[in-house]
Amino acid sequence: MGTEPAPAPRDDRERADRLDAADPLALHRREFAATDEGLVYLDGNSLGRMPAAAASQVRAALEEEWARGLVASWERWVMLPRRVGDAIGQLVGARPGEVLVTDQTSVNLFKLATAAVGVGRPDIVTDDANFPSDRYVLGSVAAAAGGELRVIETDPVDGVSADDVTAALDTGVGLVSHSHVAFRSGALADMGTITAAAAEAGAMTLWDVSHSVGVVPIELRRSGADLAVGCTYKYLNGGPGAPAFVYVRDDLQGRLDQPIRGWWSHDDMFAFASDYAPAPGIDRFATGTPPILSLVAAQAGIAMTARAGLDAIRAKSVSLTSLLIELADRDLAPLGFTVATPRDGERRGSHVALRHRDAYRLTRALRDRDVVIDFRAPDTLRLGVAPLYTTHREVAEAVAVIRDIVVTGSHEAYPHHRAGVT
Ligand SMILES: *Cc1c(COP(=O)(O)O)cnc(C)c1O
Repeated sequence: MGTEPAPAPRDDRERADRLDAADPLALHRREFAATDEGLVYLDGNSLGRMPAAAASQVRAALEEEWARGLVASWERWVMLPRRVGDAIGQLVGARPGEVLVTDQTSVNLFKLATAAVGVGRPDIVTDDANFPSDRYVLGSVAAAAGGELRVIETDPVDGVSADDVTAALDTGVGLVSHSHVAFRSGALADMGTITAAAAEAGAMTLWDVSHSVGVVPIELRRSGADLAVGCTYKYLNGGPGAPAFVYVRDDLQGRLDQPIRGWWSHDDMFAFASDYAPAPGIDRFATGTPPILSLVAAQAGIAMTARAGLDAIRAKSVSLTSLLIELADRDLAPLGFTVATPRDGERRGSHVALRHRDAYRLTRALRDRDVVIDFRAPDTLRLGVAPLYTTHREVAEAVAVIRDIVVTGSHEAYPHHRAGVT
């Protein structure tokens, strides 16, 4: 690792420190590992930091449940997908029994989208700012159903609107699927209005809440959403490869047929029956054995999020992104950066996109100055703030380091072209 971040101007530092001193969530930072090592980590929207409790809980699961309990531990493990699902359910406005932890987001999207178009109308509506994996999956589901994927062209900053969706709907469309928070711009879609527009036209909605769960209060039931998927390793701090989840509104569970039937979705899995009979409830959307150790690891961050409370988390998130945008406008706009995230705090999630023609080289130069952000081709820097551990001071330092790099030209020593993981 390189040198310490360049200090932000004194006024900014003092203001940031005052905001941090008044932060009701400040104590949570200490619950994460390695937060005292000087790294300014603004990439929790890609992989959240590790809660220290995750390590001790995984160690206990290894040493007690696996090493000693062996197969008897299945009594406990078999409950985990639902139990952790219910814990997530409380963060997304679902009832008990409406959320199940299983598979990866992309696989879950495939299952739920296939189930939705199986009801009768094969076309699917999505938008061009949706996560590429989601568009690939939705395209394959529409094609397999004999329909087409209709991709709405959206405003690159503001994302998809209810009017856009309404214009794309007709009686061929069985499913409308968007990201709640756009992965590139950070735009927060109006879940209630878009869901209502889809329902009006007789289509179901499938929301991907990967970039909003744990950082934006979500009301799946209240908004009328039919289906949702999300991941646990971003703002929920569940760990690399942590399993994802599905939400299926309870009145739909018995009516939908998901395509990857397995013994875990059977009505009586331990009967090992030769005929398939789907479980009546949310278990119907499972398939096979879940990754137990990753599920154990994921619990710590989910529990911490529930303890901290989403209203406090959201308030701090808006405070952090507002400070970031204000400093970027003042210090970075004159150097060729543009803010590519909605300026209204109500209309964005928890990351800010900055566009600059040297975005890739800047990302590399920042890593060598202990500031971690990510790059999205061709010219976007994403700075994610995670209210459980990000400080206002880190935001101010990050902007100061970006400015310092551009002013001194130190990024010019880095290659223009993308290599490795960004
Ligand atoms: C992170 C993310 C995913 C991740 O998908 P996996 O299949 O779990 O790797 C999917 N969709 C969106 C919108 C995401 O942000």
